[in-house]
Amino acid sequence: VTFRKGKTPRRPGPKKGSNVEKDPVGVYCRIRPLGTEDQECCVEMISNSTIQLHAPDGLKANRNGEFKEMQYSFKKVFGINTTQMELFEDIGRPLVEDLIHSKNGLLFTYGVTGSGKTYTMTGSPGEGGLLPRSLDLLFNSIGPFQAKRFVFKPDDKNGMEIQSQVDALLERQKRDSQQSVPRTPSSRLKADPEFADMISPEEACKCDNVDDDCCYSVFVSYIEIYNNYIYDLLEDAPFDPIRPKPPQSKLLREDQNHNMYVAGCMEVEVKSTEEAFEVFWKGQKKRRIANTQLNRESSRSHSVFTVKLAQAPLDADGDHILQDKNQVTVSQLCLVDLAGSERTSRTRAEGSRLREAGNINQSLMTLRTCIEVLRENQMYGTNKMVPYRDSKVTHLFKNYFDGEGKVRMIVCVNPKADDYEESSLVMRFAEMAQEVEVARPVDRPICALAAGRRHRNQAFRDELSRRLEERGNSNNAEDPGLLNQLIESLPPIPRCELVDPADDQTLPNLIEVLERRHHIRQMITEQFNQTANMLRSKLQQFDSQIGTRETFIQNQQSKISEKDKVILNQRSEIDRLEKKSKTLEYKIDILQKTTDMYEQDKRSLQLELETREQRLQKELSERRRMEQRMQGMVTDTKLKWEKECERRVNAKQLEMQNKLWVKDEKLKQLKAIVTESNSSCSAERPQRPSRERDRDRNMGQKRSASPSPVTPPVRPTHRRSHSCGGEKWVDHKPSTNLDLDTVMQPILPNAIKVSTPNEKALSKCHKYVLRHQELASDGEIETKLIKGDVFKTRGGGQAVQFTDIETLKQENPTAPRSQSLEDEWRGTESTLKSSVKFTLSVLVLVQCVFCWCCHLPTLPKEPKLVQ
Ligand code: ADP
Ligand code: MG
Repeated sequence: VTFRKGKTPRRPGPKKGSNVEKDPVGVYCRIRPLGTEDQECCVEMISNSTIQLHAPDGLKANRNGEFKEMQYSFKKVFGINTTQMELFEDIGRPLVEDLIHSKNGLLFTYGVTGSGKTYTMTGSPGEGGLLPRSLDLLFNSIGPFQAKRFVFKPDDKNGMEIQSQVDALLERQKRDSQQSVPRTPSSRLKADPEFADMISPEEACKCDNVDDDCCYSVFVSYIEIYNNYIYDLLEDAPFDPIRPKPPQSKLLREDQNHNMYVAGCMEVEVKSTEEAFEVFWKGQKKRRIANTQLNRESSRSHSVFTVKLAQAPLDADGDHILQDKNQVTVSQLCLVDLAGSERTSRTRAEGSRLREAGNINQSLMTLRTCIEVLRENQMYGTNKMVPYRDSKVTHLFKNYFDGEGKVRMIVCVNPKADDYEESSLVMRFAEMAQEVEVARPVDRPICALAAGRRHRNQAFRDELSRRLEERGNSNNAEDPGLLNQLIESLPPIPRCELVDPADDQTLPNLIEVLERRHHIRQMITEQFNQTANMLRSKLQQFDSQIGTRETFIQNQQSKISEKDKVILNQRSEIDRLEKKSKTLEYKIDILQKTTDMYEQDKRSLQLELETREQRLQKELSERRRMEQRMQGMVTDTKLKWEKECERRVNAKQLEMQNKLWVKDEKLKQLKAIVTESNSSCSAERPQRPSRERDRDRNMGQKRSASPSPVTPPVRPTHRRSHSCGGEKWVDHKPSTNLDLDTVMQPILPNAIKVSTPNEKALSKCHKYVLRHQELASDGEIETKLIKGDVFKTRGGGQAVQFTDIETLKQENPTAPRSQSLEDEWRGTESTLKSSVKFTLSVLVLVQCVFCWCCHLPTLPKEPKLVQ
């Protein structure tokens, strides 16, 4: 463990270190009540941290409403009803607590003259300000733990030395001999009436967490800075009222730790609030006298009251202070009552007074500039030089801003209209000052010695005195008995009266007794010494035991601190891991969510795909069905139209052939006439072919037989018996045919019945008949018997040559006869009787039938038709 050297204030830490914790300058605002003579109030407290400045009526009129209502925010605003006690609890107490815990503090009041700076800092009887309250709190807290006077001694270089008890005692005696009157007033009553009862006893308070294993000493100093000169207000310079000499100003110096201090400034050790008050009062009186003597204005000077607290740990016994300068810690609290911040013009000063005022102003200007530059450097990372040296005030407090400490500023404001402009300037500066940050003071290292030393020592002392008292009481009771015993144990002294000059017995006897007594005494002394030595060695043994115990305890403590460190490390590691796991969990969460989303997407897409596939399938099958239907329709239509074409062609051909036949007939008749006239003998009239006669005979029948062509191989005549003759027939009846209850049915014995013609059947027969059904024009089904001869082809197959067609048809006798092709044919039948033409037409019909209805692939088409 290292101890810091005694210094004031403590050495600034490494400024640039990024891990230095910083606090902003704490700026508070206090509004004083409006004076009785003042009417208009320009300051309004909006909240407990914000005030609003209203421009006075006159100003508004003059500046044409240019002045807005401005708001300023501070750490806290204290309204007119704030008591000194409340203010102290908020602002002063933390600073005093810091002071006790070896941390530096700076508190200053800022504002225009009459705004209540002095009232806030010093206060008035019954309403003590921050200064007396701070002292009171300090002494109430450290009171019983204060070191004896002169144990701590300032070394004139801003350091603190420690004196031995003896030196301190000597110095105390020296001082007492020099002073006739005792310095420390025994009670508050003895204090100067002006400063008596600053704080009522019921308002007294104290800090709780004071290290009682330390010894404390308080030193106060009081300086005034006027016209940029520093004057020591506590200096014991003889003052000549007749010929006053101007006081000697002091210089600022830098100590070995680069802290600024007023060289040669009196630092008075004080042991109680009252004593400290008295010293302060002494300085105050001196200030007042000097001001009147030198015709100065007190509002133009800055006053700095510094409370310095030196502390050092008690030794292991808890009995005395450790005699080690390195273990002394010094902290200080500066209470500054700044000069009024108003502009020179307002004071209507002249000549040297004006110059002085200018200087005072200059110092406040410098303070503002320093704060501005500091703020700029901190906010924008610039490295501008802060002009601390331009004035004594800023130079003196340089270390607070550069080093470490707690800085607090109370901005006092008088709400009266006259102060409006100055107050707004003050507010602007104060608001800006809040943006400056000061390094937070670090905690003092813990002392290696076991805590509670003072307590144990006290308990030991109490116990010792109690025992001594007990012992003393019993000693008094036992003493005569012990003495008597002792005396009795000694040989009695014989009678030693010499009556006879020749007595040579008495003296030798006496000598012998005395010698024996001397011997016994020596023995007792020896025994005592022995016992003492024994006791001493026992004590030493005990001491060494205690020493080893202590070292053991120290070891254990250091181990504990090591373990503590390990625990701390592990804790931070755990923290880190926990944080990491949290972030990971968060990431996992996000990923899980994303996965869920994707899966949902996937599912919906799959669903969509399936429905689309189904739809596609449906559409496909629909299309196929449609295709089939269309194909069927196309085939039907094609068939229909081809038939129609065929029919028309046939009709036309028949018509033409008939015409041809008629012409032929006429020609024959003409020829016959010619020959008849030539041969004069009668000749037979040309007859219609026999076929015609057959036809005429069959005319009455319902069944109409197709006329056969005359030319071979077509039979010239048609007989029904042909179909039932002795030849073997292939009876081709397509499976689509319906069984009709027509009376006339062909009878084909020995016929091979087939639904589709095959080569096997054809090879066995010579004749072929096809039963072909179709819808007639009158809606009745007619069956046609298409007959042919089977003959062998050169390639080894069979071919059918059609020779005849018979039509079997039912007719409704009541139904009107439609003008069909057949009727037309019958109409002309009587006149057109050429079987040749007829056969042709039948063949054409047969081709049609085979091609479109029976699908007989083996049947030759074109060549047969030509025949
Ligand atoms: P400054 O030091 O700023 O010039 P002072 O502290 O001397 O001003 O105050 C001027 C007058 O106003 C004094 O008489 C003081 O008692 C009075 N005063 C200032 N502040 C208050 C306050 N908060 N409450 C009551 N009186 C106040
Ligand atoms: Mg004042």
